[in-house]
Amino acid sequence: MTRFAMKTDAPFPVSARLIVFTNLDGTLLDHKTYAFDAALPALQKLRDLDVPIILTSSKTVTEIKKLQADLGLSFPAIVENGAGVFVPDDHSGPEIDQAAINSCARGYKLIRAHLDVLEPELRTYFRGFGDLTTLQVAQVTGVSLKDAALARQRRWSEPGIWLGTKEGLETFKVALCQFGLVVAQGGRFLTISSAPGRHELMKRLVACYKKQDVNRDETLVVMALGNAPNDREMLQDADIGVVIPGARGGEMNDVEVNANGVIWRADHAGPAGWNQTVLAALELFPSYQKPLRRVPRMPRY
Ligand SMILES: [Mg+2]
Repeated sequence: MTRFAMKTDAPFPVSARLIVFTNLDGTLLDHKTYAFDAALPALQKLRDLDVPIILTSSKTVTEIKKLQADLGLSFPAIVENGAGVFVPDDHSGPEIDQAAINSCARGYKLIRAHLDVLEPELRTYFRGFGDLTTLQVAQVTGVSLKDAALARQRRWSEPGIWLGTKEGLETFKVALCQFGLVVAQGGRFLTISSAPGRHELMKRLVACYKKQDVNRDETLVVMALGNAPNDREMLQDADIGVVIPGARGGEMNDVEVNANGVIWRADHAGPAGWNQTVLAALELFPSYQKPLRRVPRMPRY
């Protein structure tokens, strides 16, 4: 594991607690198989220590619910590539006003309407999930038909593929910008939305958790893990930003130091790199170390 600017190598104070924001595809999940087995040791530790794990992904609410069930998590999640925040009914963290956090998000139908008034020479080069059949979405994502149907249930964003030139993509972005829409580049897809993005929603969620910690007299340390350019700002803003290398990892080579002077680069792609860096981070927290086992005194006779 490569550590830039080793500022956090000194352990955190005893009052420090961790919160983890993690991307999914290519980060916690294998880019090809979507498996997370290699991350299980670290995941189990975080669950045992009651560390919030905020999934941050291009996935929809229905997809995230399914994955959270598989992972045994019930925390808020940043969905649709930072277009909105989903708060499970049974989550155990601080009070989070879901409506307030999502107040600036534009609905899916409106995004599609904006796309459809673009000039044909721009519009034809973009294939959104709404332009594809469920079968075609299954083919481009490599997931089952059932999962592809879940991926098409959008609330606040439209992912898709750009088939035109690089220059054309820039013109497309400018055209959408006039409607207040932003185009973000993920590992696999472009995502169009009006929302502030993963980074801004992370800040809002951290603020909610910090409020809770004020009462508990704790210091909240934010760890963020990602593998693609749309994770960049999140890593830059975290206390510990972790670059997970991968198929497109080269694009993240220039992320060296964040605002806090800390970026780590995992040795392995996907869940193996996730496991390595999360376990390394936990070692920096005195409160998460196993208490020394008390040796029972021998009875005196
Ligand atoms: Mg990713």
